[in-house]
Amino acid sequence: MARGSAVTLTDLAIVGVGKIARDQHLPAIADGGRFRLAATVSRSGGVGGVDNFDTLEALLKARPEIGVISFCTPPQVRYDGARAALEAGRHVMLEKPPGASLSEVADLKALAEAKGLTLYATWHSRQAAGVAGAKAWLGDKRIRRVRIDWKEDVRVWHPGQLWIWQAGGLGIFDPAINAFSILTEILPVPIHVTGAELRFPSNCETPIAAEVSFAGPDGLIAQADLDFLYEGDPFWTMQVETDGGTLSLTQGGAVLEVPGAKEGEGWGDRPGIHGEYPKLYAEMARLLDARASEVDTRPLTLVADAFMLGRRIEVAPFTDPTLQETR
Ligand code: NAP
Repeated sequence: MARGSAVTLTDLAIVGVGKIARDQHLPAIADGGRFRLAATVSRSGGVGGVDNFDTLEALLKARPEIGVISFCTPPQVRYDGARAALEAGRHVMLEKPPGASLSEVADLKALAEAKGLTLYATWHSRQAAGVAGAKAWLGDKRIRRVRIDWKEDVRVWHPGQLWIWQAGGLGIFDPAINAFSILTEILPVPIHVTGAELRFPSNCETPIAAEVSFAGPDGLIAQADLDFLYEGDPFWTMQVETDGGTLSLTQGGAVLEVPGAKEGEGWGDRPGIHGEYPKLYAEMARLLDARASEVDTRPLTLVADAFMLGRRIEVAPFTDPTLQETR
């Protein structure tokens, strides 16, 4: 804690120093908020100047003063670490999706409750600049139809990430769950999946493209068109038709347009996720102070239901020279 400062810094460790940890978590923590990066757990060396441990078990044993563990690992390996951290009495922050299955997230939630610890399942896209305004505008509207287009080039946005193509890695639903996190946040009514077509490359365990249909009360219908082979600028948009006109959220939720108004900060130099992570860490600080947890699994439920109801279609094999192992 800095001399004379009113803020007591909380020591935090990051587990998994990959793309999102480096692009967003490290700058957000360094931004002057509540947390101090006290250590990392990384198989590949971690962050220069910061104590690194090869395993989480070693960190939990050696550094009892580290109160918060922030998991930036792929979803398939998240549960074991998160459970070990909670059992060791540490508060836990999870990257999205909060786990590889709904049942493991339910287990973590129950454990955190039983131990009186904070568990924060983050959804970074909900912090995008246009999302709160969209929720407020839709609050008194009747929703008729939603159209989601979530399209990006996986070779540009996820280089070398083999786990995305392995069972539990979600494939195209790794980015599309961001759209579902926004959708479940802004709609004033519940929505459920009614069907899906999932396109699986013949050499992958997860889909590379999908179309998902949804329904809700009073005739509400929604459609999502999701594509991981979309070249050029990413296309992360959502249109919501209502009895009061059509709302449009573009650039991953960063820009909101409603009849007569436009607000949001746009992509800037960090497409899609500019400014979201400092807000996640501020929310974690708030939850710690309130001794509360936040674990909303609705976006993961929509993905799970798309897998459960989806018709599987085999498509051409996926190749990417940045993926080192052959599948
Ligand atoms: P990534 O670049 O592959 O990094 C994940 C890191 O986790 C690895 O670098 C590795 O770090 C560690 N790790 C531990 N066990 C692993 C295993 N079995 N396989 C692969 N890595 C393992 O992935 P990422 O893009 O940072 O994504 C991590 C999580 O953040 C995912 O849930 C993803 O959905 C989410 N996310 C990603 C983005 C994005 O734009 N990339 C945006 C928002 C959220 P060490 O070498 O340090 O051990």
